[in-house]
Amino acid sequence: MEVYNKFARDFKKLPIEEQEKIIEEQKKKCICPTCPSYNKCAIVEREKLFCMIGRSFLCISFEEGCKCDECAIEKEFQLKYKYFCTRSDEKGQRYLNSVWGSTMV
Ligand code: SF4
Ligand code: SF4
Repeated sequence: MEVYNKFARDFKKLPIEEQEKIIEEQKKKCICPTCPSYNKCAIVEREKLFCMIGRSFLCISFEEGCKCDECAIEKEFQLKYKYFCTRSDEKGQRYLNSVWGSTMV
């Protein structure tokens, strides 16, 4: 099974505490704070790991570049998309692409 799909499937089955632990661990690898789209609001709200958690809730609305393709998480989970902070997490973008044939990559 494809790496990201396996992760998403196994993650869903874990207890909430385990999920939170994994999210905190993965957040350490996220390089969003080095990206031009990342802003002061995102720093204050400690928003990160949009590829797994979902788009920015409060802070990021403008796309000014994306560093996801330089990130260890992108390689580890073989992510296909980027601009997770404005567009949706990997799961959401995969879904949209399957429904609408989006070309947002
Ligand atoms: S792929 Fe992008 S959103 Fe996901 S952890 Fe890396 S930099 Fe952050
Ligand atoms: S998801 Fe991409 S565009 Fe958004 S802050 Fe992270 S690296 Fe930048």
